[in-house]
Amino acid sequence: MTNIFELKQRAIKNIDDARDELIQLSATIHANPELAFQEFKSAAMLCDALERHGLKVERGIGGLETAFRAEARGTGDGATVALLAEYDALPEIGHACGHNIIGTAAIGAGIALRALANDLPGRVLVIGTPAEEGGGGKIILLKNGAFEGVDAAMMVHPAARTMVTRGSLATSRVTLEFFGKASHAASSPEDGINALEALLAAFHNVNAMRLHLKADARVHGIITHGGVAINIVPEYAAGKFSVRGATRAYVTQITERVIQCAQAGAVATGAQFKYTVDDGLAEIIPNRAIARAFAENWRALGVEVHEPRPNERMGSTDMGDVSHALPALHPYIEIVPDGTPGHSVEMRAASNSPVGHAGLLNAAKGLAMTTIDLLCDANLMREAKREFVAAAK
Ligand SMILES: [Zn+2]
Ligand SMILES: [Zn+2]
Repeated sequence: MTNIFELKQRAIKNIDDARDELIQLSATIHANPELAFQEFKSAAMLCDALERHGLKVERGIGGLETAFRAEARGTGDGATVALLAEYDALPEIGHACGHNIIGTAAIGAGIALRALANDLPGRVLVIGTPAEEGGGGKIILLKNGAFEGVDAAMMVHPAARTMVTRGSLATSRVTLEFFGKASHAASSPEDGINALEALLAAFHNVNAMRLHLKADARVHGIITHGGVAINIVPEYAAGKFSVRGATRAYVTQITERVIQCAQAGAVATGAQFKYTVDDGLAEIIPNRAIARAFAENWRALGVEVHEPRPNERMGSTDMGDVSHALPALHPYIEIVPDGTPGHSVEMRAASNSPVGHAGLLNAAKGLAMTTIDLLCDANLMREAKREFVAAAK
């Protein structure tokens, strides 16, 4: 069998050879930002590139028009590794999360591995996952079976620091609705039931609870309906809360307490109360076995890899749910100076800059090299799976 080191060298060369094409692809997606579920041009460009390099592409999968799956089949019945592409942009600010780099890096790794297929004992998939920013595309794809048969999944996100094991917060969203009774606020307030006061009480109760939450918890809300005129006692009020925490289990606990806070407001005012909970996103469980291999590969390329800080700030991503379904890794590659916020104009500029392009190529190489490890080193895949099963318990 061809040795792993030599396969990795060939993958690196394939990515370097495709450099101009990959940068062009990333720049074109960056210049044409498309919102969640509307990524028609971006998905088409990524699929075209995969087809040009001989991968078999299925466009529109798992019930999502802008999702896709490309396959490079190796020689044996070995494992299946999925490389995940994201390519949605943010409203107004465009590609300020650098998903043009995420999508193109997955394609770069996919085409590099396709060229090695004769020497790979397994299967490589590139799965196009729409709507990471607020649509939970991966959760829909998971539910609709798009990840069936996948043994491990990876993607790389651009960031302000290179890390392989940084996690993410679990989230949920709660909508609170209060139904009172309208009356003239000056001449007959005693006949009214004030739905807005019930909602304000809910906010006060949540604020009273906040001190007693763990440090990583975040509870933040807005009022979406607060009455129609100042001389009418508000008969309807509604608000939304986002709850985040280190684990899905803790987020569920906090969410239940937010509902109790709101119920208390309803009791205090006599308003009727209704709530709906949207499950949101699970936290990422970084697979340590895959992370070790990934970090080693990046270090071999001269990329400096950092440990997450103890108080590392984190967001949330639908990759969390993938990591609860199979062994997964969501590493970060530095393209902006440490401390630069995500979703910023600085991040958008870097996503199409020489530093961004270098990050893109290193992301593609890391993905390709670690896929080779997972397909060719049965011990590594076994360890990744054992760890996944243990974490799920
Ligand atoms: Zn983002
Ligand atoms: Zn992002």
